[in-house]
Amino acid sequence: MEEVETIRNELAAVDTGILEALSRRRALVERIAQAKERVGAPIRDPSREERLLEELVAAGRRLGLDAHVVTRVFGEIIEDSLRCQHRRLLADPDPGVSCVAFQGVSGAYSEAAARRYFAPQLDRTSFRGFATFQEVVEAVEAGEADYGILPVENTSAGSINEVYDLLSCARLTIVGEEIFRVDHCLLTLGEVPLSAIRAVLSHPQALAQCMRFLSRLPQCEARPFPDTAMAVRKIKEEANPELAAIASEEAACLYGVHVLRRGVQDQRDNFTRFAIVARKAAPIDRRVPCKTSLVMATPHEAGALLKALSVLHQHEVNLVKLESRPIPGLPFQYRFYLDLEGNTAEPRIAAALAGLRRVTTSLTVLGCYPTHDYPRTRPRLRPPAAERAGEQAAPPPVASAAAGGAYPLARRDAKPEGTVVTVRGVRIGAGECVVIAGPCAVESREQIRQCARQVRECGAHLLRGGCFKPRTSPHSFQGLGLEGLQYLAEAGAEFDLPVVTEVLSPADVELVARWADMLQIGARNMQNFSLLTEVGRCQKPVLLKRGMMATIEEFLGAAEYILAQGNHQVVLCERGIRTFETLTRNTLDLGAIAILQRLTHLPVVADPSHAAGRRDLVAPLALAARAVGCHGLLLEIHPDPARALSDGPQALPFGEFADLMRSLQGG
Ligand code: PEP
Ligand code: MN
Repeated sequence: MEEVETIRNELAAVDTGILEALSRRRALVERIAQAKERVGAPIRDPSREERLLEELVAAGRRLGLDAHVVTRVFGEIIEDSLRCQHRRLLADPDPGVSCVAFQGVSGAYSEAAARRYFAPQLDRTSFRGFATFQEVVEAVEAGEADYGILPVENTSAGSINEVYDLLSCARLTIVGEEIFRVDHCLLTLGEVPLSAIRAVLSHPQALAQCMRFLSRLPQCEARPFPDTAMAVRKIKEEANPELAAIASEEAACLYGVHVLRRGVQDQRDNFTRFAIVARKAAPIDRRVPCKTSLVMATPHEAGALLKALSVLHQHEVNLVKLESRPIPGLPFQYRFYLDLEGNTAEPRIAAALAGLRRVTTSLTVLGCYPTHDYPRTRPRLRPPAAERAGEQAAPPPVASAAAGGAYPLARRDAKPEGTVVTVRGVRIGAGECVVIAGPCAVESREQIRQCARQVRECGAHLLRGGCFKPRTSPHSFQGLGLEGLQYLAEAGAEFDLPVVTEVLSPADVELVARWADMLQIGARNMQNFSLLTEVGRCQKPVLLKRGMMATIEEFLGAAEYILAQGNHQVVLCERGIRTFETLTRNTLDLGAIAILQRLTHLPVVADPSHAAGRRDLVAPLALAARAVGCHGLLLEIHPDPARALSDGPQALPFGEFADLMRSLQGG
């Protein structure tokens, strides 16, 4: 026991050292901000940030630290430094005391978001709840409050139309935004079984976001309430153990009720974006990244919207949101809400606005405000040699038009520039060779976590792991199902890796799509047309594996099924076909990888693991697939291949995987 105490004291001393170092760093950041201000230098220098992170990763490795940990910690530190520099450039919004109006009662999500936004001046800010959004607007207009906070959109439920309509006629301007993660909890008076709950009270939006969870509660009624915190207050007053509310954990604390379940919303990632409004706009230094929100109407004639959008294109303005709304009182006429990246003080944005005025019938700037989120710089864990390999020109289109008749959407000339499939930020088909690695099957929380860590450390891009396994024998390990999906998603989130996993049946598509960033269709299902149709209807990218007996054109026909449903995010995977050869598990068809690039615009990756069936051939086949131009690789790895529950003989142990990654990266 005494030893533990001594070590804890040492840890505390190290932590204090870290804090002191951070504080010294802050002071330097202040000085650098002043120096930059004097010369008017930009705050961000992405290539310097990238270099800095790479050096830190290398230094960290020499000290025995994971690249992942170093990237994460310093990502946070760099972001803090940027925020500090931006804050300096912004005039203090209100040196005095200010009052913020929100809709709802204490404990509402709007209040929590407001507290987050006003965190730097909480000691001189008060918050006041109003019954409706309209009253919030009126309170700010009348000077009863200095600021208002209004939810404008939710990532599951969409835009909050009432707020948009209010903003378009309010005498207010948007001065800021806050993006708030909404994690709904099921709250009760005490610990009760789910089956005992008879009614769940909450705001209709919150109920809608938890529909799937609620539909699983037997004999339970969803009761709409004006707001989430009020629902909590109500169950507390009623003192009835059969009542529950859906609200935030903060509301549970505030009203002293029990959190029975966390994260009951249908979408794991559920965010609400709030606008902060005030009577007057404050000028914003041009070096602070900003958004500008507008509402405009175009004449009722062909090409009017296109003309407006081409003005933005002409001035190289990035549009981050476009939404149409009916104009009240003018049936079937619409106006558009736009969010642009940029500051109205920049000549580029001013010129775009002037151009827009010429082609619209009305245009109002709702506000210009600092952007909430900062794109993170990521160090490249790859040496430049691999990039050279990716710099090949697009292959020429196929000469014969007849060949592509059965797959008009997939054929090369439907999109000669090639498709880039983006899986949570990772671009497949864009030039760099994307490595997808992980175990054949998710076997335990710890196993997939170890794999994820290795995938991240080696500079690979996506994490794979089967949860529903298509096994030749029903007596073999069939995968962990939903439990596996949860472990996989958790490991992906911890190491910031998008995850891909196989879906076996049309009925599981919705479930798998909820947890995975990319859905895999296995070789055995390549011509399961109802499954192809179902994944074609979902919004997630698809990794389609070639059937072991399928011709190249049948393979493209299968891709066509997915494209025909409207999902264009398809990556093809050559994983070896069955030939007369028996010494390898399958025969990797390198010719197919080469010709597919001529026949189709879809990216093509290679899976040397399933092709070889034995680990000693995985590296040479991977390099061969690279040589014929594949856009990525799918590799099976395992912390202890001898004990793997499936495909152990072809799994690379971690060291061999690291060696292969090094040779793929050019040494
Ligand atoms: C897999 O990738 O785990 C798999 C089952 O592959 P295939 O469908 O290519 O056999
Ligand atoms: Mn496998």
